[in-house]
Amino acid sequence: TGSKLPHTGTTIFTVMSALANDLGAINLSQGFPDYDCDPQLVSLVNDAMKNGYNQYAPMAGWLPLREEIARKTEKLYGAVYHPDTEITITSGGTQAIFTAICAAIHPNDEVIVFEPAYDSYAPAIKLMGGTVKSLELEPPDYRIAWDMVKRLISNRTRMIILNSPHNPTATILSESDIEELAAIVKNRDILILSDEVYEHLVFDGQTHHSMARYPELRERSFIVGSFGKMFHTTGWKLGYCLAPAALTAEFRKLHQYTVFSVNTPMQVGVAEYLKNENVYNELAGFFQQKRDYFRDGLSQTRFRLLPCSGSYFQSVSYEHISDVKDTDYAIQITHEYGVASIPVSAFYSKGTDHKVLRFCFAKKQETLERAIERLIKL
Ligand code: PMP
Ligand code: GLN
Repeated sequence: TGSKLPHTGTTIFTVMSALANDLGAINLSQGFPDYDCDPQLVSLVNDAMKNGYNQYAPMAGWLPLREEIARKTEKLYGAVYHPDTEITITSGGTQAIFTAICAAIHPNDEVIVFEPAYDSYAPAIKLMGGTVKSLELEPPDYRIAWDMVKRLISNRTRMIILNSPHNPTATILSESDIEELAAIVKNRDILILSDEVYEHLVFDGQTHHSMARYPELRERSFIVGSFGKMFHTTGWKLGYCLAPAALTAEFRKLHQYTVFSVNTPMQVGVAEYLKNENVYNELAGFFQQKRDYFRDGLSQTRFRLLPCSGSYFQSVSYEHISDVKDTDYAIQITHEYGVASIPVSAFYSKGTDHKVLRFCFAKKQETLERAIERLIKL
């Protein structure tokens, strides 16, 4: 029997975190915090368990949580999503992405993906018999050339995948990107999968252009969110998908037979926690401080910093330092300097190597400080 994904190996996150663990290196590779979440959130989840919320949640998710997400989305983006028919709670952003792609993509459908791209999109597309049409973006700015996007559109184009703030490049979509996108999809039967798991991590007072803000985009969009990113709880695997009722109906047909529903006590706890708007409104400031501290430190190393407008990743170029391929270089500096990173070529389907490494700065200040002390020696 043939493999359904013959060219898919082990994800780079697993590879680099395992190497960091084996070597006892500082792990700035896989994106997750090394500090704990708010104890109040933990106690809300504990309360839920103690109060007997330990059985199946409704298939679409715990209703009060869907209501809180609706409230937040309306408040931030002016968009009304109906909790009954347009919001589904998922096992992390990952399951929302996978389910949306599987629900929408038929054999031979084409999906436009901008690279570097988060590594979970392409396998789902291929599994469904779809074709990835990738457009490579380049450092330092990774700007989308929309005239190139137009050239990629065909009558088989079924979906465009967007990710803002972007992993790994830390760019965000601008107002003019939104206008170009809207012009392209207008009068075409093209869906949008908008991966917005870093929606609250936008810096320097810039705006997150959620698809939810734009009625003509929203009507064709699956929007993906993640409480792992929002509340420093990546291990809880709690996320959600917003989509108009007809798309949500298709989404739920798959959701009910892949997970049915996701863990109840965390949904109950997060629903309660979300009532306080500060818990997400404070995130940009919290991470901007980490970004600034880390950039400041990195500027004392030989690396060249790339811009960082959002997400919790900072990329650097080492083109002027070494000719070694980025996958080898990331391994080399983990061994020699004890700091693990992610080689950005892992996010290009052709393995394009611009000699860029990605570091995660969702870390305690002392972790960042120690990493910088080591990288300065390089
Ligand atoms: N999309 C992007 C761009 C991500 O960075 C991540 C997390 N690494 C996810 C989706 C998945 O989110 P979750 O951990 O909630 O499954
Ligand atoms: N989203 C995280 C990152 O980009 C990792 C998620 C995972 O390990 N699958 O580092």
